[in-house]
Amino acid sequence: MDFLSELRSLSTLIEVAVLWVALYAIMRFLRKTRGFGLLRGLASFLLVTFVVYQLLNAGDTTKTPVLKAILGEIAPWFFLTIVVLFQPELRQGLARVGGSGWLSIFSRNDEEENETILAVVGAAKRMANERTGALLAFERGVSLAPYRENAVQLDCPCSGILLETIFFAGSPLHDGAVIIQNGKIIAASALFPLTTNPEVQRRMGTRHRAAIGLTEETDAITLVVSEETGKISLASSGRLYEAVPLDELKTRLLELIRERPADDEPKAAEESEEAAPPAETDAADPPSKPSSAA
Ligand code: ATP
Ligand code: MG
Repeated sequence: MDFLSELRSLSTLIEVAVLWVALYAIMRFLRKTRGFGLLRGLASFLLVTFVVYQLLNAGDTTKTPVLKAILGEIAPWFFLTIVVLFQPELRQGLARVGGSGWLSIFSRNDEEENETILAVVGAAKRMANERTGALLAFERGVSLAPYRENAVQLDCPCSGILLETIFFAGSPLHDGAVIIQNGKIIAASALFPLTTNPEVQRRMGTRHRAAIGLTEETDAITLVVSEETGKISLASSGRLYEAVPLDELKTRLLELIRERPADDEPKAAEESEEAAPPAETDAADPPSKPSSAA
């Protein structure tokens, strides 16, 4: 009997531990998403309701039949609400677990990566010189497949000449963005979500807002060439590093692409930013800090 009750308490402990780990993983994943504030609000509300409910009842649930009935009705809907509210985040999460990100970690080929960066940097500089607007996204851990769906799907090695051809003003593909995955151009004319940061909205056009917006929703790195100014900027984790000096572009881009996603190692990311700010400028008052949409 004793053994049985011990076993039961052990299984309860395991149950709590599994639940705790699952909750921690979900919170950690959702931490950087737009819906996190909402989730925190909902969780606080539920926690307070639960505590009040327990205090009022003190073990006897017949004391508050109305509250019990209401909570009984609401509880099953709560999980459905979470699924609906966080549908994009959940999709990204699943993509992160099973998608190309993990595979690309295992199959990362530094030489190929270097070649791709060289091609992109060369093309970006030439496009900047000619005032050709461009927006490119480098896929990392989170799959960019959802943004490829409505774009023109391609599957070709990333070369400078191809990028310039795509963004050439007369080309049917020049509007929108290019997506690069493992050294390949996998989409052109892609549309990215625009950042909703009011500060950025006020002073930047849609190309730059899309460059920032994508990095708020995924761990991708984006590169923008401004048609208006000929400046090249990089974005990561909702921050725009404006007007990166041309001689630093390759190094900065490589640093950002190889940096572990902020999600995985927030401290390291922050520290490395402090130690080596990647040509950070604030558009309102350049050159100083990165514009942050976070
Ligand atoms: P620039 O400095 O090059 O003028 P900008 O930030 O001022 O850039 P706009 O002038 O509004 O931005 O650039 C418009 C172009 O940006 C569009 O023609 C299109 O190619 C691209 N663009 C606009 N919205 C998106 C989007 N959601 N996703 C990808 N590209 C976009
Ligand atoms: Mg513009």
